[in-house]
Formats: sequence, structure tokens, C-alpha cells
Amino acid sequence: MTDEFDVVVLGTGAAGLTAAVTAARNGARVGLFEKAPEVGGTTAWSGGHVWIPCNPHQAAIGVSDSPEEAVTYIMSLSRGLLEEKLVRAYVAAGPEMVEFLDREAGTEFYAVPDFPDYHPEHPGGKPGGGRTIECPLFPFTELGEWQDRVTHTPYYSTEHLTMSETSLGAAVPVVPSEEEMARRALRDERGRGQALVGRLLKALLEAGVQPQTRHRARELVVEDGRVVGVRFDTPEGSRRVRAGRGVVLATGGFEWNEEYKRAFLRGPLTHPVSVPTNTGDGLYMAMKAGAMLGNMREAWWIPAADLPEGINPMNRAMITADRTRPRSIMVNRRGRRFTNEAANYNAFGGAFHVEDVTAFDYANLPSWLIFDQGHLRADGTIGPHPAGEAPPAWLKGHPTLEALAEDIGLPAEELVATVRRWNNHVANGVDPDFGRGQSAHDRWWGDPAYKGDVRGTLGPIDDPPYYAIKVVSGGLGTKGGPRTDEHARVLDLDGRPIEGLYAAGNVMASPFGMTYGGAGGTLGPAMVFGYLAGRHLTGGR
Ligand SMILES: Cc1cc2nc3c(=O)[nH]c(=O)nc-3n(C[C@H](O)[C@H](O)[C@H](O)COP(=O)(O)OP(=O)(O)OC[C@H]3O[C@@H](n4cnc5c(N)ncnc54)[C@H](O)[C@@H]3O)c2cc1C
Repeated sequence: MTDEFDVVVLGTGAAGLTAAVTAARNGARVGLFEKAPEVGGTTAWSGGHVWIPCNPHQAAIGVSDSPEEAVTYIMSLSRGLLEEKLVRAYVAAGPEMVEFLDREAGTEFYAVPDFPDYHPEHPGGKPGGGRTIECPLFPFTELGEWQDRVTHTPYYSTEHLTMSETSLGAAVPVVPSEEEMARRALRDERGRGQALVGRLLKALLEAGVQPQTRHRARELVVEDGRVVGVRFDTPEGSRRVRAGRGVVLATGGFEWNEEYKRAFLRGPLTHPVSVPTNTGDGLYMAMKAGAMLGNMREAWWIPAADLPEGINPMNRAMITADRTRPRSIMVNRRGRRFTNEAANYNAFGGAFHVEDVTAFDYANLPSWLIFDQGHLRADGTIGPHPAGEAPPAWLKGHPTLEALAEDIGLPAEELVATVRRWNNHVANGVDPDFGRGQSAHDRWWGDPAYKGDVRGTLGPIDDPPYYAIKVVSGGLGTKGGPRTDEHARVLDLDGRPIEGLYAAGNVMASPFGMTYGGAGGTLGPAMVFGYLAGRHLTGGR
């Protein structure tokens, strides 16, 4: 086993795989190392949507875009936290990255129609979508012995669908026939994040790069101020490798590190939904190497809920489409609504971190998703619970709102009044309290039967039994870490590049600040900065 490489990449999520494939296709000898026994990281668990403004596939679905529109849109969400230089680098390199991977790595990206940006009414936003791309199904039988070495997602009941075929990725989901699903199973054709990881992995294997798993990077080897290698913990003991040109940190965020979360985050992130190996190792190594940190308070926030054991291996679920659909609201412990339930999941983090200064507590944590039988019947609810089926045994129905309130410890009078007020708003077709349904975003995520209409998200709660699920603050990953320049080079405390050190993905100070631009908003920058790192390390395209 060689211990000498040009480029050493740490982590096998989208950021690491993209950096590795870019460097390898540009002729570098690449060493790719992964802490877990399986490759793919959270990326393999994901929907596989990638947000790339001005991507070369937009024209095929009739969308026009321009770098100025994209920069205007992203900067409109800045709140003083974004560096325009990095935003411009991202917007400029995104389409190049897509072309490069389509050509060199067989990604076969296509644009997803209709999926609105997450703040589409901001200047430069796209209410009609077009900035989100994804890969088609990928036959895992093409990976040989690696077919069974990609981490499986705990969240989706089948891997044989693309995101755009599901209710999370399409206004009107496609339901493939049983024969079609059987055909997909035969070649183990997987969609979403699996398809993205599978395609990048295949390209790497073809370029002669075999990921080395169970390698936990612990320490950067620094000589004369330059990063020249890495020391790993492996089951066989400590191992050192050299990196002639440089090292790319792509080790994900620190959402599974309690100490770092306490030290840095702006508020609770009790329920990460990423791979548990993301414990901030890259942040530790970067800090030790003298990196300047940025965006440390932020995460890709998402509402989440505990599930009873046995439903999925994480015993938790993301609460996404469920809270956007009719016949549901969210309330706090006072039994009151507190935000637009259909807002994008990342923005929701802000609602969870609001302080009740009198009680000296978080005003909206925990909160409850309240819904009725009609919601369950039409839309299904959290986890792998198909629409139209009887509720799962763990979900307790109540004949009245008063009984529900008593069961979950909320003031009954308040809950009843809140639901009455909500039902009035629904009857009037407008939510004057929180503007739910105003944005194209809300109307898209709602009930597919009412695509683009407020009825897709506004619906009365009046069809007993009534149900509640406790909702807490989760995260897809953190987004603070070492700051980089527009080539993904890590900067030191004086703003100068640390020679030989690069970062991409959730390990780095996100160029997006608090923002989540649109569907694929985390994989987009992860892949673009991985590409920029791989390109700069090889002086290539
Ligand atoms: C269900 C779900 C759906 C999602 N859908 C989308 C979507 O459609 N679009 C989108 O943009 N985002 C989505 N996300 C978020 C997205 O998956 C992550 O933000 C993204 O995968 C992060 O990529 P990454 O490469 O930075 O990290 P990861 O993919 O998490 O990879 C980091 C890797 O580094 C490894 N590692 C950690 N420490 C070390 C070490 N010391 N040495 C070596 N290796 C190490 C980890 O084991 C891991 O494999 C979703 C997330 C979930 C959970």
C-alpha cells in the first residue's frame, strides 16, 4: 500500500469525492481516506439534489438564468455574513463543475423542473425553479465489490427512486409500476444521493483511486509551515501518508460533537440527521494548523422528531413536507402558532432559537405538529407511513382537541382557540398571522393535488381524530469551520493561505452564511468547492 500521494482527500461525501475525482482526472495521484467502514457520508443518505445557478441543463427545461441574477439572489440573503468574492467564485465555477463531471465522471446531471428557490420572491430568485439538478438512477452492479460498501440511507423506504419521483422532489410524484421497480432492483439501480455517490465512486475506481476506509484522520503533518501529510488512526494502528501537493479536508461538520456544538452554535441542535462519524475532526485539525474560522454559529437547520425504536435506524425523522401540507399547524408550549409552518426547513432554525425572556427559555422548543385525520388520509405523515393507510400504532388519535391538549400537556383553551383562528384563516384563503402560502415555495411543497395554489398548504383542522408529534431542532450538518479563499485554500489568522491545506463541504466556513438558496443548497457549494480544490491542486480544468 503506497504512502506517497500528490493529493490526499479526507472524507468520501460529495465534497471529498468531487475533489478526488477532479484531481485524479487532472492527472494527480490521489489518496482518498474515510473514517467509517463504508463510503458516501451524509451525501449517500441525501436526496442528491444539487443547487447550481446557471447550470448547463437549465435551457433544456426552458429556464433562463444569469450570473448577475444568481449573485443578486444569494447576496440578498446575506445579512452581512457573506463574502461576495466567494459567492462569485461559486456562481462562476458551478456550471464548469457540472460540465466537468458530466464529461469526466459520467454524472449525467439533468435539471429538475419547477422546484422553486427557497426564497423565490427575493431579487434574482427563481419561483419556477431550474437551479436544482440531479443524477439519474445508477446501477450499483457496475461497482463490483464496492456495490455493498456505500452507506445505506436510513430515511427512505426504497433506494430505487430518484428524488424527482417522490413527493419531496416533485409537485406531482411519479409512481413507477411494480414491473419497473422489479427491473430497477435487478441491477440495483439507485437514485438520490446514492446515484450521485455511485457515479463519482465509479469514476474514481476507473481512475485507479480505491478509497481507504476505517482511516480516521487525526493530525496534519506540517513541515516549514506547509501541510505535507496526514496521520491516521486505523484498526491496524497509526499510519502516516505524504501529500506532495496538498490535503483536502472534506470531513463534514461537527454536529455530532457535543463540546463543539456548545462552544460554537447559536442555539440548540439536539437532533443531527447526518452520519454520526461527523464529529468535527476536520475542524480540530484546521484549528491546530492555525486556520481562521468563520460562520461558526450556523448549521443547515431542519425540524426533526424522535421516532419509536425500529422504524428507522436513526430513530428520528426530518419534518419537512408534513408541516407544509393542509390540515396541520405547529404550536409551541403555549398552544400558539409561532411561524409560517411551510417556510423552508433551514429558515425554521430561526424560529426555534427565539427566546422567551420572561421564562428565560426557548419560546418554541419543543413544538408540536398538530394535524387531523384528513391530513393523515390525504398526505400521510412522518417517516415511512404511506398516505391513505391507517395511522401507525405509535401515533395516538384523540376524539377532541381538548383531549389531545391534555395528553401532550398544552393549555386546552389556547389550542382550541388557535385551531379556531387557523380554520378562519383557511376559510378566508389567507394567513394574516404568518403569511403561510404567500410564497411560491410554500405552494409548491404543499398538497400535490393543488399545485401552485394556497389550498396546497391551507386546510382546516376539523376532522377527528386529532394527532400531535413533538418537533425539535435538528440539522443536516453544521456549516462553520476554516475560512477559505476562492480556490478553497484554507486561510490562516492573517488571511493568508496555509500552504497545502484546502477545505470543502460542511467542514468549511460555508460561503452561504445563514442561507439555503434552493433544493441542493448544501451539496451545491460542497461540490463546487471540492472541484475548486481539486482544480487548484492540479492547475487543471
Ligand atoms: C435525508 C437527507 C437528505 C438530504 N438531501 C439533500 C439534498 O437533496 N441536497 C442537498 O444539498 N443536501 C441534502 N442533504 C444534506 C447533505 O447530505 C449534506 O449537507 C452533505 O452531504 C454534506 O456533504 P460533505 O461532503 O460535506 O459531508 P458528508 O457527506 O457528511 O461526508 C463527510 C465524510 O467525512 C468522513 N469523515 C469524518 N471525519 C473524518 C476523518 N477524521 N477522517 C476521514 N474521514 C472522515 C465522514 O465519515 C463522512 O463520510 C440531506 C441530508 C439528509 C440527511
